[in-house]
Amino acid sequence: MPPEVPAELDAKRRRIVAELGQMGFVLPGSISVRTVTCGRPTCRCATDPDQRHGPYIQWSRTDRARKVNRILTPAQLETYRPWIDNLRRLRALTGELETLSLDAVHAAEGWKRSTNPEPSATCGAAP
Ligand SMILES: [Zn+2]
Repeated sequence: MPPEVPAELDAKRRRIVAELGQMGFVLPGSISVRTVTCGRPTCRCATDPDQRHGPYIQWSRTDRARKVNRILTPAQLETYRPWIDNLRRLRALTGELETLSLDAVHAAEGWKRSTNPEPSATCGAAP
């Protein structure tokens, strides 16, 4: 038998799950726009900050502790920025769902919510 969860908590859960059901692809990382120096000592970019190359649209992410960068075209940015935004939204939604589920288990079991987690020292301590 499913636990007794307050209707408004279940309504919130359904709203979150519905949004998750519509979620598109999710990409890690962030976008930045930057100018760069090419490293050739004779290039104009070496001495004049206004002559640096770019601006380039850079997508950066971490893959197995390594930073990975890729230059995007404006069209690619338009396509993939929503995917990057989706991961942020996905994490927000799973966080909300987790908090909601904690509310639900406490409501269903009649447990008091403790904002201050018990220190582990209470395990096996006093009777
Ligand atoms: Zn250069």
